[in-house]
Formats: sequence, structure tokens, C-alpha cells
Amino acid sequence: MSQIQEYQIELLVGDITTLPVDAIVNAANKTLLAGLGGVDLAIHSAAGPGLQTECWTLNGCETGEAKITGGHALPAKHIIHTVGPVYTGAEEEPLLLAECYRNSLNLAKENDLHSIAFPAISAGSYGYPAEEAAQITVKAIDAWQKENPSYDIRVIVVCFDEEMLQVYRQAMGLL
Ligand code: ADP
Repeated sequence: MSQIQEYQIELLVGDITTLPVDAIVNAANKTLLAGLGGVDLAIHSAAGPGLQTECWTLNGCETGEAKITGGHALPAKHIIHTVGPVYTGAEEEPLLLAECYRNSLNLAKENDLHSIAFPAISAGSYGYPAEEAAQITVKAIDAWQKENPSYDIRVIVVCFDEEMLQVYRQAMGLL
């Protein structure tokens, strides 16, 4: 009999900026200033100019690290900004991508947040192959949940389209 791994991760398809959760995660760039596209631009546009003002005070963010701001005009209470690796195929990139998830979850716990929604970090303009990114995401979230078994937090991964949803379903063994 084969064992079925059940993950405590919710998958949603849609626009992360609409979610009324404790924190949404931004796939930001190292400056933490509004990007030119992708989920970063969508978050800054929906949150309003107060977000950019707050981000100026944070002095940027290194790849794999995470910083928190208020949610401003978003339905989410907070935004956790993390910087994924730009994909080149280098050896350290899976670890850096996993660190984005781990450090974001650590920051959520430190701030007593109990629901968090992630986009597919690095899987857009930063070029990470979706299948690899999805496997790293699922493993990193699962490892964190196993290290923090008594901390109650709803973890959502938001897929921007149906295609990405199928990639995540595959990574979670649901297909
Ligand atoms: P990165 O620069 O880290 O690759 P991107 O923003 O370019 O980040 O893309 C990351 C993922 O976020 C992609 O799968 C993209 O389709 C998705 N995305 C873009 N806008 C949104 C949004 N409003 N809500 C959820 N996901 C989004």
C-alpha cells in the first residue's frame, strides 16, 4: 500500500490582492519599491501610494529574506515582501526560493498572523520553471508546518491562472 502525503496547503486561482487574509506575500524586488509588472505592481496599485512610502523606510531586502508592512488599502491586514531568486539554474537557487517561504512564514508567526497567501514567487518575470518552483514551494511550506506543529495558520497558494493551478496540483500529488 502506498502512503498518500496530504498537504495542509490551500490552492486558489485568482488575484491575490483581493484576499482578506492576515498577510499576502509580495514577490518583490531587492529595492522593495514598486516593480514594473507582475504581482508586485498589482499589489502596489491596489494598496495605494502609502505602501511605497512605507517601503522606502525598509532599506531594501536581500534575496530569500522577508520584510513586513501594513496592508494599506488592501483587504489584507499586512504585506510580507520577499525577494525570490532570478532563475539562472545555479545551485543555490532552490534553497533561496525555499528561504522566501520559510522566512515569510517565520515573519507571520512573529507577528501573530494566522492566514497567509503566497503567489508563485520567482515563477513570473524571474523565470523559475513553474514545475520546479511549485515543488520547492510545497516542500518548503510543508517543512515549516512540520517544524511548527502547534502554530495555527492557514496557508494559501494563489495561482494566477488555471495552468499554474494544475502545476501546483501536480506538485501536491493531487493529479
Ligand atoms: P517574480 O518576479 O518573482 O517572478 P512575478 O510577479 O513576475 O514575480 O510572477 C510571480 C507569479 O505571480 C506569476 O505566476 C504571475 O502569473 C503571478 N501573478 C501576477 N499577478 C498576480 C496577482 N495579481 N495575483 C496572483 N498572482 C499573480
